[in-house]
Amino acid sequence: MASIRELHQQLVTKERSAVELAQEALDRIETLEPKLHSFLAVMGEQALTQAKAVDEKIAAGDEIGPLTGIPIAVKDNMCTPGVPTTCASKILQNFVPPYESTVTQKLKDAGAVIVGKTNLDEFAMGSSTENSAYQLTANPWDITRVPGGSSGGSAAAVAGSECPVSLGSDTGGSIRLPASFCGIVGLKPTYGLVSRYGLVAYASSLDQIGPFGRTVEDAAIVLEAIAGYDPKDSTSLNVKIPSYSHLLRPNLRSKGRLRIGIITETFGTGLDPEVDEAVKKAISHLQDLGAEIQTISCPNFRYGLPAYYIIAPSEASANLARYDGVKYGFRAEEGDNLLSMYEKTRAQGFGQEVKRRIMIGTYALSAGYYDAYYLKAQKVRTLIKKDFQKAFAAVDLLVSPTAPTTAFKAGEKTKDPISMYLSDLMTIPVNLAGLPGLSIPCGFDRQGLPIGLQLISDVLREDLLLQVAHTYEQTTSWHLKQPSL
Ligand code: GLN
Repeated sequence: MASIRELHQQLVTKERSAVELAQEALDRIETLEPKLHSFLAVMGEQALTQAKAVDEKIAAGDEIGPLTGIPIAVKDNMCTPGVPTTCASKILQNFVPPYESTVTQKLKDAGAVIVGKTNLDEFAMGSSTENSAYQLTANPWDITRVPGGSSGGSAAAVAGSECPVSLGSDTGGSIRLPASFCGIVGLKPTYGLVSRYGLVAYASSLDQIGPFGRTVEDAAIVLEAIAGYDPKDSTSLNVKIPSYSHLLRPNLRSKGRLRIGIITETFGTGLDPEVDEAVKKAISHLQDLGAEIQTISCPNFRYGLPAYYIIAPSEASANLARYDGVKYGFRAEEGDNLLSMYEKTRAQGFGQEVKRRIMIGTYALSAGYYDAYYLKAQKVRTLIKKDFQKAFAAVDLLVSPTAPTTAFKAGEKTKDPISMYLSDLMTIPVNLAGLPGLSIPCGFDRQGLPIGLQLISDVLREDLLLQVAHTYEQTTSWHLKQPSL
């Protein structure tokens, strides 16, 4: 599938219309969905209406922005009025939001054409998209394997060329992990850069929306459209948004010497040797491009996972208290009084992993345990933040593998939650510190599965992150390889 820039050019020169682009995406979705199952809802009619409006604008001679007329998919935890927003949960099976999330509004304002809502782990809790109550999404590189999670549908849709770009959300790695498993670019922005208004809350102090694209430029263009201050989100940052896509430079030397730190703690036991090799090659490539490489120790990094699995479930247990069968979606049939209706609704409406998180979170927040678990985890969070602060006093960017392995087989880890949780070992600390992180393809293993390189910058340095990733991409060819479907 062509890049946003190429598609934009085709629209401007009237070589193709927005309706044709939307139809092409819809046709591709129709052909591939029986294999991939990336979408929970396809918005054919709305997409074609939106595209028609774009074509009228073009015909009237109006100037169009880079995203105008570009098909895009959105993870099904972002509210879209008139279209169900299920979070891949049975408890929200009939929920049609009466309001629009800020990100989808911004996409529409930019003229993007939303083609559908994508599959995810229920309430974004998971690393493989296997926790969806509705369907299993396949990895386009090997359909017996998972696409990663929780934004697996959005990643598979882009990797499988069902649409050029998509949105995901990342609480502990849910954009970067599926980007890595599916061989595409995925960016989790600085906490607060993109509004969370209308994003169904999982763990509010960690959640952040970001783009998937086949190239860094595509991701930059989408980020530019969705970032920015929103008075409807109290954690939204009031900062000026640079034109990320215009800042992309072809080389690393344009801004003086770039210092890159390798996070020592992300290499070692548990890391797949082929991932290790590919990531190290990518780092020497960055060195050849002119970066100064050093190793950096983040000693508290290894406590990220346990701290996260206290903080995220605690916040989730509070956020998910609202699903009681009264206000939203599903309600259990039987139940002779209010309490038993609540209990039956939640017992039948939530899946196993969501229940596990609610129980862990409720326990960690209960009187007597709060100090021992929640407070302790928050202190660990501060230590991790300090590790990063120290690191960014010495270097401009940090690198690590995105994930310890390549995509695993469907069913391989579902019985063992801890081994599933370990997939996010390298991405979680970035969320705990509120930093931006990006995953970019940096190779393939012997089975032909993509490997991802994670780049991390200091807060609000998405410009630098994207520039370096772009230079790496333009001097390598990993992003040009596509799965045969
Ligand atoms: N896999 C992690 C979890 O299950 C991260 C999920 C996410 O980023 N949404 O919580």
